[in-house]
Amino acid sequence: MRAETAAAIARERGVPEPHGGWEAALRMQAPADLTVFLAHVAAAYPVMGFEDALWRIARESVEDAAATGDDFLEIRFGPATHRRAELPIHAVIGAVRDGLAEGSRATGLPTGLVVCLLRHSDRETNLEVARAAAAHAGNGVVGLDVAGDELRWPSNEAYVEPYRIAAAAGLGLTAHAAEASGAGAAREAAELLGVKRIGHGTHAADDPDVLAWAAGHGLTFEVCATSNIYTGAARSLREHPLHAFLAAGAGVVLGNDNPVTIDRSLADEERDLLAGGGLTSDQLAAIHRRAVAVGFMDDSVRSGLRARFH
Ligand SMILES: [Zn+2]
Repeated sequence: MRAETAAAIARERGVPEPHGGWEAALRMQAPADLTVFLAHVAAAYPVMGFEDALWRIARESVEDAAATGDDFLEIRFGPATHRRAELPIHAVIGAVRDGLAEGSRATGLPTGLVVCLLRHSDRETNLEVARAAAAHAGNGVVGLDVAGDELRWPSNEAYVEPYRIAAAAGLGLTAHAAEASGAGAAREAAELLGVKRIGHGTHAADDPDVLAWAAGHGLTFEVCATSNIYTGAARSLREHPLHAFLAAGAGVVLGNDNPVTIDRSLADEERDLLAGGGLTSDQLAAIHRRAVAVGFMDDSVRSGLRARFH
């Protein structure tokens, strides 16, 4: 969310301005830890729980990504956070889906919405989220994810049924795993939930056996390198686990989780990984090919991207 948009919605809705203003509330000034990172993310929540606000934030996120030269945009969020008595989960998802569609129409940038279960949500809420995501399948919603505090809620058992619902609806499957938990959580998510993509997965690099297993089973790690530095999960781009992932032959794609909190586009991320971050241009080309192969997108979008990269 743009800081000026947060300020505008706050004025409309009577939400008090945070100390130091919206810009300082939303944006981290320097690397810290996950708690600080999440506090900056959560600073936006008071202005997000309205249908028109979600629509606008989604539309603008597409405009901002298009302006930096992105070719395809997957956006993910946890709708349960923004549910209110007058704004049920299916309406939260619908507002974001419609905002993305409007942004796509205006910019030509194809988009897909990945809906996140949240580890701190109760079982019934996560089932409701999965059912609402499934109902929007083929109509802007492209995937299911689970995100949240792995240390407090490490078990993946509760997500088996929601992932079964999403898979039956044809949604792509990914899961945040081995982000805070140990390496084995990445393999568990793949085996239990049927995912082929792992969100972050930074700790998977701690165990060569898990990495070899991931490579052998065609897993892809969704790497947000600078974000990991801001949360304290990685020391530097050069020392980031993504290099171990690539060396083991596992798939890697890149993201910027999230552009406002860390003030970076995906283009910034790629530039810095190439200039001093230890990534070669051949590796970046492989990352692009992998992104086109595993992105949750229609075949027409995939073949268009493939043709452009070739
Ligand atoms: Zn994340």
